[in-house]
Amino acid sequence: MSEQKKVVVIGGGITGLSTAYYLQKEAKEHNLPLNVQVLEGSNRLGGMIETEKKQGFTIERGPDSLLARKPSVFRLIDEVGLTSDLVTVATGKSYVLANEKLHEIPSGSYMGIPVQVRPFVFSSLFSPQGKLRAAGDFIKPKSKPQTDQSLGHFFRNRLGDEVVENLIEPLLSGIYSGDIDNLSLMATFPNFYQLEQKYGGIVRGLQKTVPKPSTNKTGKKPSPFRTLQNGLGSLVEAVSDSLEEGSVQLETSVTQIEKKAERYELKLHNGEVIQADSVVITTPHYAAQSMLSQYSFMDSFKEMPATSVANVAMAFDQSAIQQDINGSGFLVSRNSDYRITACTWTHKKWPHTTPDGKALLRAYVGKPSDQGAVDLSDEEIADIVLQDLNKTMNITQKPEFTVVTRWRDSRAQYTVGHKDRLKQIQADMADELPGVYLAGASYEGLGIPDCIDQGEKAVQNVLDYLKA
Ligand code: FAD
Repeated sequence: MSEQKKVVVIGGGITGLSTAYYLQKEAKEHNLPLNVQVLEGSNRLGGMIETEKKQGFTIERGPDSLLARKPSVFRLIDEVGLTSDLVTVATGKSYVLANEKLHEIPSGSYMGIPVQVRPFVFSSLFSPQGKLRAAGDFIKPKSKPQTDQSLGHFFRNRLGDEVVENLIEPLLSGIYSGDIDNLSLMATFPNFYQLEQKYGGIVRGLQKTVPKPSTNKTGKKPSPFRTLQNGLGSLVEAVSDSLEEGSVQLETSVTQIEKKAERYELKLHNGEVIQADSVVITTPHYAAQSMLSQYSFMDSFKEMPATSVANVAMAFDQSAIQQDINGSGFLVSRNSDYRITACTWTHKKWPHTTPDGKALLRAYVGKPSDQGAVDLSDEEIADIVLQDLNKTMNITQKPEFTVVTRWRDSRAQYTVGHKDRLKQIQADMADELPGVYLAGASYEGLGIPDCIDQGEKAVQNVLDYLKA
């Protein structure tokens, strides 16, 4: 690469920021003549990551947890000097609300699938018939090879409806905010299919492959989650502070991308045009489709659904909660008549977020079958949450304050066939739009580490393209 090249990153969420960060790092380390520009449509960086400080509380409007076993986010945290701010989750226990009662999630499970059988046998979460049906996984033959199927179909076939509805569904739909009977197995947990095919059953497969949990010096199992002392927004700030000055342009939406000979022209909302040699699109799929609407191969993104959720943080005096429970929170089984889908006892899970003597609860509304809840007023949403919480926790006072955040169309649904459709789009893009790449939550994983992985992959793709 001898002449100056310009790379435009569209979107300033964690995917776009990590892409820009690693591109600039590569340029510095290898003396590459690269100019990297991030164009963000809104007036702030971070996308779904947003931390608010209020009256001594640290409130996450979006994500609050980093999965400890996924390294890319911890690498990025280290790069920007925040490793000493990492905080480990304070309590390991969590619950599922099923049949109007809280049941502790049995230990020794992996994404709700039993690895150790004993805790499942003694769990109050399942009936004897449900447990017996789940044991069928040991004797049922492996299913016929399939290119894809829904998560619900796969797990129901192996473990039965009850284990799925009381544990696996609440866990997985908590992650994907979607209906597991529509979500793709191969785009979310292909490893379970591979275990079934290789070992004849998923429990047996997990028992053979999941390493026994190591214990730390105190004899406790290491906790699966981390966060940052000053909220995940501090990662967004640190990454954007590490970018070269002038790299980010806020309130700049890209409306159209056009190929012009060897370069690209990006049309902006204000009529301006920016030229680029390579482009990384890190926006949701529907925004990407609209920027490239002249290409029919992008049309399948029009059919790709996205669900909305509202996140409701409520601050209380500790005395308001008569029945405080020791644990990080609970998920709600789809068979219950609750409208909330989950509640985090944030003051227990992350004590550093809450002043002494106070409690901070965070609940979600917006099940796939109750999307209208997200459009209710703040007061109506707060009432729904309080009514539901009262059934389990006996809350005697009104919250000191409530923060409602709506994330509309934020949860891209990887429905059955997602991987193949994406592969086809990527192949068509490589043919017709060389040097343009997709990365982010709509494509190959929606956890923060998955987004950073995709950002790093896009960096490699851009460099390979520009060097060729
Ligand atoms: P986004 O954050 O959506 O960023 C995309 C950016 O593109 C946005 O800033 C948007 O304004 C911009 N944009 C859109 N259109 C245009 C355009 N035309 N031009 C320019 N810019 C544009 N993950 C975890 O790992 N742990 C958790 O605990 C967790 N909890 C979550 C809780 C909630 C409530 C939500 C909503 C998500 C959660 N996630 C969690 C998922 C994770 O936060 C997201 O998947 C991730 O942050 C998405 O990052 P992204 O950069 O791909 O997309």
